[in-house]
Amino acid sequence: MAEVASASMTKMYVKGQWVEAQSGETQEVRSPHDGSVVDTVPRGSRDDARAAIRAAEDAFPEWADTAADERARLILAGVEKVKEKQKDLAKVLSAEQGKPVFEAMGEIHHFLHGMTFYAGLASKIRGAQVPLPPDMGKHSYGLVLKRPVGVCGAIVPWNFPITLMGTKIGPALIAGNTVIVKPASSTPLTSLQIIGLLNEAGLPAGVLNCVTGPGREVGEELLENPVVRRIAFTGESGTGRRVMEVAGPQFKRITLELGGSDPMIVMPDADLRKAVSGAMIGRFWNCGQACLAVKRLYLHEEIHDEFLEALLKKVGSYELGDPATRPEKPFVRMGPLHTAEQREEIESQLADATSKGAEVLIGGSRPDDPALGSGHYFHPAVVANVSHHSRLVQEEVFGPVLPVFKVKDLDEAIVLANDNQYGLGSSIWTQNLTWSNQAIREIQAGVTWVNQIHYGYDELPFGGVKASGIGHEHGPEAVDYYQETKGAVIGGLA
Ligand code: NDP
Repeated sequence: MAEVASASMTKMYVKGQWVEAQSGETQEVRSPHDGSVVDTVPRGSRDDARAAIRAAEDAFPEWADTAADERARLILAGVEKVKEKQKDLAKVLSAEQGKPVFEAMGEIHHFLHGMTFYAGLASKIRGAQVPLPPDMGKHSYGLVLKRPVGVCGAIVPWNFPITLMGTKIGPALIAGNTVIVKPASSTPLTSLQIIGLLNEAGLPAGVLNCVTGPGREVGEELLENPVVRRIAFTGESGTGRRVMEVAGPQFKRITLELGGSDPMIVMPDADLRKAVSGAMIGRFWNCGQACLAVKRLYLHEEIHDEFLEALLKKVGSYELGDPATRPEKPFVRMGPLHTAEQREEIESQLADATSKGAEVLIGGSRPDDPALGSGHYFHPAVVANVSHHSRLVQEEVFGPVLPVFKVKDLDEAIVLANDNQYGLGSSIWTQNLTWSNQAIREIQAGVTWVNQIHYGYDELPFGGVKASGIGHEHGPEAVDYYQETKGAVIGGLA
């Protein structure tokens, strides 16, 4: 188990200081591998959230007035500090989240890349100058000004706690806003360490705060408190609905990055080796706990059997085990699911499918190994003959279970791809431009990758349609959500 001892680790970060909860209460962070206590953090309440909101409100005017280059410099100085500690941070992330250390390293890299991307954008934000009709006054012109919105709440889930924090604090900070991060209760440790490092690099006190504690208290205070003008939320669609209910009536700026059930379509001319690898990473990375995971696989009938054979062979190379260790080659490490409830949910979705006639081709059970008995382990599964009405298809499946379907052509694949409440990502694997264009046009999703693994690029806007959310993270577009647009008219000029 990774060592995570640090004086700061048992506290949260408000107004440039490590603080306890005002109540003195703490909450445990437990290892998904063996249930042991990794560390404890303050169990913050509404009072603690209010203190952080006040700190962020006080810090806002100065930060909003800080030169863009200076904001970027401070963020980049923080990035350097995180980079120096990345190996240790990855171990902490692995310990609290359950992902293998090499996946945790990948997540920290993604965070660093995203923060660097946004630091680079800080000085490039601009509005516009607009000529106006002369009958409104000769030489009059309009201005479109961009201004920070103020205090922002960033509510983050446990599956990618660090990248999903970065997609919020990066654009918020460069645009001149101050932030309160509310990490998931089960994964606050790495976030706290990173927020400490970013502050150590010179952010003024109150610009970037982190309050740990239950979503129903700390999170809801962020939603309700009128000082918070912007809520960036990533999590389940059900919680997203609650965010809208509470924050919506106050006309806060809300973005919701919610659940997904991404389809992947493989056509007969695809590079099958790459497509199999895309399905593997797409479905099984992070033990299947990704919003943009490949959750339904549609194989053209001409390549169905060959693809499936190669896929099953690869799935067989996963070895369940302590995420802090590596298996012998050619085996690949898969860690536990994040919580016991998560595993029970997957099991019940799978049971629903098998009760409707589905056939489990590999995996789909808990391991026998007593050494893994106190972790939330589950053998990755591939399932065939799945009813499209089953929960395994219609709900979000947040774990390593992949239903596979045989389709006769692209039209059928697209109809099935769209037969779902979600619309986050999607992919098509083909060399045929007509087919890829049809998929891009017709699949109801925020993104369609062509011959590419499902991945949130920092450079491109990412967000869902239908029950997958509202608004975007990533890309320069994300910065817009952290800015007010103000118009001005300059007249009366000679
Ligand atoms: P949850 O919705 O349970 O929790 C997300 C965050 O919201 C946590 O910090 C949680 O705090 C907090 N929260 C819970 N209840 C409230 C509330 N009433 N008010 C304010 N905040 C609250 O999601 P999970 O953590 O289970 O994350 C997994 C989900 O996230 C999946 O559905 C996944 O698809 C989705 N997701 C979407 C992505 C996207 O970009 N579209 C990316 C990654 C994940 P606490 O932990 O204390 O309960």
